[in-house]
Amino acid sequence: MSFESREGLLHAEAVPLTAIAERVGTPVYVYSASMMRARYAELDAALTGSRHQLCYAVKANSNLSVLRLFAGLGAGFDIVSAGELQRVVSAGGDPARVVFSGVGKSSEEIDFALKHAVGCFNIESGGELVRLAERARLLGKKANVAVRVNPDVDAKTHPYISTGLKENKFGVPAEQALELYAAIRADMHLNALGIACHIGSQISSVQPFAEALDNLLVLVDTLETQGVSLGHLDIGGGLGISYQNEPCLDAAVYGSTLTQRLANRDLTLVIEPGRYLVGEAGLLLTTVEYLKPRPTHEHKNFAVVDAAMNDLIRPALYRAWHPVTRVTPPAPGLEPRPWDIVGPVCESGDFLAEDRRLALAAGDLLAISAAGAYGMVLSSNYNSRSRPAEVMVHGDSFQVVRRRETLRDQMALEQPDERCAARP
Ligand SMILES: *Cc1c(COP(=O)(O)O)cnc(C)c1O
Repeated sequence: MSFESREGLLHAEAVPLTAIAERVGTPVYVYSASMMRARYAELDAALTGSRHQLCYAVKANSNLSVLRLFAGLGAGFDIVSAGELQRVVSAGGDPARVVFSGVGKSSEEIDFALKHAVGCFNIESGGELVRLAERARLLGKKANVAVRVNPDVDAKTHPYISTGLKENKFGVPAEQALELYAAIRADMHLNALGIACHIGSQISSVQPFAEALDNLLVLVDTLETQGVSLGHLDIGGGLGISYQNEPCLDAAVYGSTLTQRLANRDLTLVIEPGRYLVGEAGLLLTTVEYLKPRPTHEHKNFAVVDAAMNDLIRPALYRAWHPVTRVTPPAPGLEPRPWDIVGPVCESGDFLAEDRRLALAAGDLLAISAAGAYGMVLSSNYNSRSRPAEVMVHGDSFQVVRRRETLRDQMALEQPDERCAARP
């Protein structure tokens, strides 16, 4: 395991988390390189039944070292902006293995991606297809295209992260997809390379993926009768992980379910996992600043820590549940009681966890687990707080892969308006 207690002291691989806190300070995100590699290898092995390409969804964690790690394993990347493409390129990723997703690609982003010759544009509307064709014509390029179809399946996940239902803004309905493929075919600057979908995030059962795949295969067959022969089928990401002991998606069952359906077909299976590859491979390390026990409210005691919603917004945004554990054993005789773990930000929604039974004292180190995905990438400077550092652990050594932001960093882009200082 990657995060384990050894003689009462929580470690990241072979590094005690106390050593990281001493050297780097808190709050700090800590990642396990070996766990990221293990998750990748597990999915890759589960898909051996098919020709396949894993495209890591950059938005889950876009740290350059994380991208470099996956590039080194042969991963492609699923991106949603020019910024993510630049990160992939800077990290040594291969643009030919990039799929460009997203409902609102700007002309500048499309041009940037065309110049880098990304592997495929996953297009989500007729308007976007027209714009892509025009940009490709102007630049004298030919763009590979997949239409992102909305397969109208219920991923049975949180409404904010469910994307495959008719009422969501993502993708196009099946009927419209056929029209778009006809338009692609008629345009010499476009090439119909594949078909795509993405039904949501944190999906714990295989069944919605199977349903979506079956719906896409019906379209693949219809297109075939129209003389359009596709090279790949991109089933998207969304593989669920374990936050609160819920069952993690079974990679082997997921793999065999998908690859069986693709047997005897000349299609490369593309998947776009984000959370699954990095979520459980990261934690947020934080220090207890103050305790506010409340004798009259047995169940509302507050432990104020040095991390906050600006560092990890998932609990505040989705009421997401993250495990919270002590890094060191509690002092002898310290009684456990229920605590809300809250940050210093001036919002009542600023909590990292609610009602956790822990024996706590000021100065204690806590680990907020399963924070490797949608953690640092969603951080902000709210309350003018500097964003945390990020550390990558390899066995018994670790490296700061992003230094803590400074106050100078925070203000670097601003130019004080002198007229605002003068009296009118
Ligand atoms: C967010 C997203 C992903 C990754 O989702 P996870 O739940 O992190 O696996 C993949 N593809 C697309 C198009 C996305 O928007």
